[in-house]
Amino acid sequence: MDEFALIEQFFTGRGVCRDDVLLGIGDDAAITCPDNNFELVIATDTICEGTHFLPGTPPQALGHRCLAVNLSDLAAMGAEPLWCALALSLPKAEPDWVRQFADGFFAIADRFGMALIGGDTVCGPLAVTVTVHGRVKPGQSIRRNGAQEGDSIYVTGVPGLAAAGLRVLTASGVTAKAGVPSVQRFLYPEPRVLEGRALSGLATAMIDVSDGLIADVSRLLEASGLGAEMDLASLPLAAVGTDDALELALNGGDDYELCFCVPPGNAAELKLRITDWSCPVTQIGTVQPSDDIVWFIDGQPCNTVASQFKHFS
Ligand code: ADP
Ligand code: MG
Repeated sequence: MDEFALIEQFFTGRGVCRDDVLLGIGDDAAITCPDNNFELVIATDTICEGTHFLPGTPPQALGHRCLAVNLSDLAAMGAEPLWCALALSLPKAEPDWVRQFADGFFAIADRFGMALIGGDTVCGPLAVTVTVHGRVKPGQSIRRNGAQEGDSIYVTGVPGLAAAGLRVLTASGVTAKAGVPSVQRFLYPEPRVLEGRALSGLATAMIDVSDGLIADVSRLLEASGLGAEMDLASLPLAAVGTDDALELALNGGDDYELCFCVPPGNAAELKLRITDWSCPVTQIGTVQPSDDIVWFIDGQPCNTVASQFKHFS
C-alpha cells in the first residue's frame, strides 16, 4: 500500500466536519476560515519511538497519545480545539497498524470536535508530529506568567499515576496489564480540555503537567517571577505505596494534568465550576513574593524534595 492509498483509506473524509474548514485533506494545503472574534492558539508536539513511547506500544494508544499531548497544550491555554494536522513517519506501510492508529486518533479528535485537515506521511523511524489549532476569546488565554502573590495553586487529577503505569509496563511488557488504571492512564492520557476552558476568566496562570509537578510548577512560577509554599498533604496519590507515589507525583511524567493559579477572591466561583468535572482538583500551594519554592507535606518541610528541586532550577 503506498502513502496515498493509506491516506485515502484511513484519513480522508473521516472525523468531524466543521464549517470553518474550507478545504481539508487532498490539496497542497488546507484552508480554514478563523473567526475574527477569536485569537488563534497553535501548538506542535512530536512523539518518537523509544523517547516518548515504548517500542510495541499499541497503535491505537499511539493514535490517541499524539493528539492527547497536543490537546493538553491547548487545554493549558484555556483554548477550544479546532483543527489539527498529522505528520506520520512510519518504518513500513502496514494497513492494519495504520487502521488501529487512525481509530485511536479519531476517537479522541471526534470527542473534542477537532477536524483533521492535513498532514504528511513518510517512510522513516516511527515518529508522529501533530499540530493543533485552537481559539480563545480576545485576551482570555491563560498563560504561565500571570500568577499573583497570594494565589492558590491547584492541580487536577492524580499526578504520578501515569508514571506508575509506565513502571508497570516496563516491568511486564507493553501489551500486559491493559486493564490496570495506572497503565490505562499512561497509554491513554486524558487532556483536560473542558476543564482548561472553564478556567478562563478565573485562573491567572496555567501549565500542563507533563514532566512532573516539581518541574512544571517551577516553570510556571519562574515565568511569573514568583515563588511558592507548596503543601502536598491533600494530593491524591497513585496507590503504589506512599513514599514511592509521592516521588512519582513529583518527578514522574506523562500526567497531562493542569496546574493553575486562582486568586482567593475567585475561590468560590472555582468551587462552583469544578462540580461537574470528572477529575479531582486539589489545592497544593500558595504563591509567595520570593522566588523560592518550598515543599511541605502536612506542614513538615520535605527535604528530599528540596534537594531534587535544585536539580531542576
Ligand atoms: P505534498 O505532496 O504537498 O506533501 P502529500 O502528498 O504529502 O502532499 O499529501 C497529500 C494530501 O494528504 C495533503 O492534503 C496532505 O495534507 C494530506 N496528508 C498527508 N498525510 C496525511 C496524514 N497522515 N493525515 C492527514 N492528511 C495527510
Ligand atoms: Mg507530503
